[in-house]
Amino acid sequence: MIMNVIDLRSDTVTWPTDEMRAAMAAAPVGDDVYGDDPTVRELEAYAASISGKEAALFVPSGTFGNQLALFTHCPRGSEVILDEHCHIIQHEGGASAVLAAVQLRPVDCGLGHLEAAALERRIRLGDDIHEPKTSLICLENAHSNGTVLPLAEMEAIRRVADRHHLPIHLDGARLFNAATALGVQAREITQYADSVMFCLSKGLCAPVGSILAGSCKFIDQARRNRKLMGGGLRQAGILAAAGLIALKEMRLRLDADHENAKLLAARLAEIPGMMVEIEKVQINMVYFSHEKQASIDEEAFIEYMKDHGILMNGSDASGKFRFVTHYWITRDHVASIAQAIKDFYTGD
Ligand SMILES: *Cc1c(COP(=O)(O)O)cnc(C)c1O
Repeated sequence: MIMNVIDLRSDTVTWPTDEMRAAMAAAPVGDDVYGDDPTVRELEAYAASISGKEAALFVPSGTFGNQLALFTHCPRGSEVILDEHCHIIQHEGGASAVLAAVQLRPVDCGLGHLEAAALERRIRLGDDIHEPKTSLICLENAHSNGTVLPLAEMEAIRRVADRHHLPIHLDGARLFNAATALGVQAREITQYADSVMFCLSKGLCAPVGSILAGSCKFIDQARRNRKLMGGGLRQAGILAAAGLIALKEMRLRLDADHENAKLLAARLAEIPGMMVEIEKVQINMVYFSHEKQASIDEEAFIEYMKDHGILMNGSDASGKFRFVTHYWITRDHVASIAQAIKDFYTGD
């Protein structure tokens, strides 16, 4: 294993821990399409209990789980209301048009905060034959831009949904980062949603897999649809064994990643020429830009960092860079990242 690299591109890059690798090798398995895999069953039962839902289903990825939720909740040609920056719109390859065959109706909003009144104005349930009917509202918490939705905002949207008898799906890829940041149990967040997807393979270090949770009736239908989508996995207990450690242990240590993100933001902010969104750090993400952005060659900057053993992505559409902390980023790494950028600026 190559461990001497500091990979800040995402928390998806996390390697499984040695404990996970040992549990995977030893996991009792069976054919999960027959319902025979005891490790998958254990993972699904545990995942349901911590998310406060009746049932849960192991799925290959977060994208798979979100799209399976849309496919299961929504009739073809109906409309899903969500925020314009959410992962389902921005980063899932247009899958909702292909798989669920739904229309996505974005609400413009700042930083992932969906305003309940703006959302309610988009709902269409009348008899006008010109209009698609709203079938679902999607929320994202934590948002992939690092924002955490407060419980009061989710509750306000739940009230709107109830008024119109609409279900809510929560994209909780980083649900446990949100719970950690809010200082609540995950089920206090998921209580406002009918279904929730969360990833085992991001900051929780499992190599593969996500969970979709909801009512028994919903998960029964989702299990059928998962098979249709080619997601019926056989001896998946090998993967679920790592997922169990992700949920039982790794979920409880995310505050260390959040602390490191805050520390990294503070160290970077001390460097003259860096603009760091220090007050916006809520989970494991730090956004920054160069004060003299125009005079800095972005490719040269990324190459320089790579030469110093630090991997990062290019800037986003608004010119900002994102660093993501995770299990394999230590406090010592934080110091070397800050030093490398300081040296870059001073031309050392
Ligand atoms: C990563 C992510 C997903 C998708 O997960 P994959 O396993 O990469 O498909 C969905 N939603 C959000 C908010 C994410 O950050």
